[in-house]
Amino acid sequence: MAFEGLAERLQGTLQKIRGKGKVNEADVKEMMREVRFALIEADVNLKVVREFVKKVSEKAVGQDVLKSLTPGQQVVKIVQDELTNLMGGEQEPIQFARKAPTVIMMVGLQGAGKTTTTGKLAALLRKRHNKKPLLVAADVYRPAAIQQLETLGKQLTIPVFSLGTDISPVDIVRQALEQAEKEHHDVVIVDTAGRLHVDETLMQELKDIQELATPDEVFLVVDAMTGQDAVNVAQNFNETVGISGVVLTKLDGDTRGGAALSIRSVTEKPIKFVGVGEHMDALEPFHPERMASRILG
Ligand code: GDP
Repeated sequence: MAFEGLAERLQGTLQKIRGKGKVNEADVKEMMREVRFALIEADVNLKVVREFVKKVSEKAVGQDVLKSLTPGQQVVKIVQDELTNLMGGEQEPIQFARKAPTVIMMVGLQGAGKTTTTGKLAALLRKRHNKKPLLVAADVYRPAAIQQLETLGKQLTIPVFSLGTDISPVDIVRQALEQAEKEHHDVVIVDTAGRLHVDETLMQELKDIQELATPDEVFLVVDAMTGQDAVNVAQNFNETVGISGVVLTKLDGDTRGGAALSIRSVTEKPIKFVGVGEHMDALEPFHPERMASRILG
């Protein structure tokens, strides 16, 4: 299960302080030492850990928390609130264009779950938002990727626009947008090329598509299992192409939590959705508060 180790350690630590009638600064310090270890062990970015510990410590010791009637509970509440804030605070909804179609670009490295998530997102938008999506196969380097998207489209009965691999991605997207207009699709989701590593040609290609399509959302798909690598990839994509949100996949696996807890702080971009399985309905809006509650029990 995701976050198992982190949840267990944090819950154990907070349990100790929760029931205390009196809490002093030394207790808070001891608690924060354990929280710090738990976060580091969960592969949370070190700078993020440092800031988190500082913030919680200041709040716990600074106000009249320790002199209150229920200091332990209040300290626990501070940890919970700050953990929620760390993941972005509020759920960030998808941004739809004022004038249809809404264009969503899916970007990410190979294997992160980009194509699968493209299908899942289309299904979610149709089901929950009553949209009529068009999927666009713009990965011209891997025929298998186009095929994969077409298979998903068939399975979902959602149309897929593709023109094979002998044409530039920008031309594909241009024609796809024309088709969307003709067929009254109100959402266009572009599955772009993935690479094994971040490279300049890929970034330039993404920028070219971006310039043409002026997307309402650019979602970076990253694999939660890759921890700090996912955070580095997010930082990289955000600095070069600019992203509007993150989709964190494979949260159904036994990820330690580092990516989920670090990405928002490091990139200042929200996690908008999480992938929780291989099935087409396994995509959920990300709720920081619920995630914090799940971790803290
Ligand atoms: P892409 O190369 O980024 O397009 O990645 P794919 O969409 O082909 O996904 C790579 C693998 O990850 C596939 O086997 C997917 O079924 C799997 N996958 C994607 N998202 C999730 C998820 O949220 N949970 C699990 N368990 N597997 C996922």
